[in-house]
Amino acid sequence: MAESAVSIARDAALAAAREVRWTPGDSAELYRVESWGDSFFRINEQGHAAVRPFGDERLAIDFVKLVEELQRRAISFPVLIRFQDVLQSRVRMLNEAFGAAIEEANYGNRYNGVYPIKVNQLHEVVEEVLDAGRKYGMGLECGSKGELIACLPHLNEEGMLLVCNGVKDRSMLSLILSSQRLGLNVIPVMEKYSEFESLLALADAQGVTPTLGVRVRLATRGSGRWSESAGARSKFGLSIPELMRLVAELERRGKPGSLALLHFHIGSQIIDIQVLKRALKEMTQIYAALRRRGIPIRYIDVGGGLGVSYGAGHARGEAGVNYGLQEYANAVVFAIKEVCDAQEVPTPIIVSESGRAITAHHSVLLVPVLEGHRRSGPDHVELPAEPHAAVESLAKILDNVRNPDREPEELIEAYHDIEEIRIEARTLFSLGYLELEQLAVVEDLYWCIARHLLGRLRPAEIDPTPAEVLELEEKLTDRYLCDFSVFQSILDHWAIDQSFPIIPIDRLDERPDRRALLVDLTCDSDGKVSHYISAMEDKTFLPVHSLEGDKPYYLGFFLMGAYQDIMGDTHNLFGRVAEVHVYADAEEPDNFWIERVIPGAAIHEMLAQVQYFPNDLNRRMSEIVKRRIDAGVIRPTQGMEILGQYVACFNDTTYCDARPAPVVVPAPAAASGERAG
Ligand SMILES: *Cc1c(COP(=O)(O)O)cnc(C)c1O
Repeated sequence: MAESAVSIARDAALAAAREVRWTPGDSAELYRVESWGDSFFRINEQGHAAVRPFGDERLAIDFVKLVEELQRRAISFPVLIRFQDVLQSRVRMLNEAFGAAIEEANYGNRYNGVYPIKVNQLHEVVEEVLDAGRKYGMGLECGSKGELIACLPHLNEEGMLLVCNGVKDRSMLSLILSSQRLGLNVIPVMEKYSEFESLLALADAQGVTPTLGVRVRLATRGSGRWSESAGARSKFGLSIPELMRLVAELERRGKPGSLALLHFHIGSQIIDIQVLKRALKEMTQIYAALRRRGIPIRYIDVGGGLGVSYGAGHARGEAGVNYGLQEYANAVVFAIKEVCDAQEVPTPIIVSESGRAITAHHSVLLVPVLEGHRRSGPDHVELPAEPHAAVESLAKILDNVRNPDREPEELIEAYHDIEEIRIEARTLFSLGYLELEQLAVVEDLYWCIARHLLGRLRPAEIDPTPAEVLELEEKLTDRYLCDFSVFQSILDHWAIDQSFPIIPIDRLDERPDRRALLVDLTCDSDGKVSHYISAMEDKTFLPVHSLEGDKPYYLGFFLMGAYQDIMGDTHNLFGRVAEVHVYADAEEPDNFWIERVIPGAAIHEMLAQVQYFPNDLNRRMSEIVKRRIDAGVIRPTQGMEILGQYVACFNDTTYCDARPAPVVVPAPAAASGERAG
């Protein structure tokens, strides 16, 4: 009896201790780091976010250390960090997964990955992927003329494969044929029958035999929000009758060997591996039938779509991918082998165009929080000497809700009342019946009561949660103003509702005591992050820490490397963010060194895109200043200083860099010329 009382007391004490001490492990759970961090991201014992660039225990880089180094070098934030070792690791992991599957299945042929550059066309990224992929014979995929132009000069290894998807015009087809004449392994994939006809006409004119692939319109449909128009009605690909016509035409010309590759792509971020397996079986049956007919097809290209876990599960029931890298590779290899064995045909070289899976992990956006707008209301409100009726009613309600005996229903009723009083007060103010000072007190009281109400209603855990409580949660969530643009850096969040993992990089051994909505610098109502990856049931806010005075608070936006960091438009003239390329090295004091810094877009570059040019702007501004000097409004020296200040801004980045500029960049030529004169 006594013993169990002791153990109960001890359990309670332990529970209480757990309650007070927040550990890095708690943060990892809260932000679901395991579900999206893969083998790369962790929270370390100091409560800092860390990356393991090789995807294993060997070495870790602490984000706080990295930020200190960037600050020391006066690099402007927001900054995009590329971990080149992560990119290399992903290439290795993908190829090793296929290697393992091929060995296990005793598959009689090989895997040949190609990197679809549209996922991240940055030259350094493409080169890093090719560098890591060289020993696996990795190739490239392009989907437009621009990408073809970018890819061709990189085919510097014997037999390196370039798959050309997308709609191709005659000049593109002609260039592809020429590159085949050079002996390059470039395969144009026919998306339409008419493309095949154009290709044949061009080949005849050049007197060459083309090598080509065909995108096949499968009956299997993709799934998920990225699913493209796969399936029989898709606008891409040849139908089965068209494929047969194409084959017959090649046979008629005595060139069945021209058809080298069959391709399908059921959309990016395949959620359900069963869908992929169905497509694979369908495709391999087509392949086998053509092989048996004597068409020596060499490649089956399974397209992209290998999924990445972003931490899944936001409020709208987003599904996560239901497989990992190895399972994907196994599915592809085994499905193709099974059909080939059954049909007694040789197995093809397997091509995959995995893009997201290669690049997503390697880049992280570091964003400073500029300001936190607390939405909690004051603790105490001073009433005016002669309070207006609206103020009096609210004060009464405040007293009332402070009474601990109030039931949840009464609290919800109080919420209805304060809403009504607030609306009335605003109307009275507009009509001139309420003074500005009284309106200010109404607002303070409103927020003060709202906070009390939520503080009482939240622990009551009414099920289902009443709309009023959700509304209060929404209203009382802090706004954290972040130095970035949603449209520039996380376009898919806005465009297709994709959630990205976001976590503070520091203080992860402290309990996050605030709930924040992250808003960006654009004046757009869409310029916010509207759902988050967390273990909270409500995904509409991010648990964060209170800001401590001027101490910077950085958030890491993870898995930015696929489709995000390279996109971006010129929304509100926010340009590219600064970029640094980080390599891991155990010999360095903090396990890393910085190879390259690419500054963010300067204001004059962004302005030039919309036809404002420094010379002209400077001339106009000079005229304005000159008129003020002539009129005696300011002294000439002051006027010149102001002009210099204006011109110096041309070279600023488009984000809020709070620190003084480290280097004095020469002003544009015209500006210095005029100042000299
Ligand atoms: C977009 C695309 C890819 C890349 O898809 P991921 O999901 O990033 O792997 C591959 N092939 C084609 C034809 C594409 O359109």
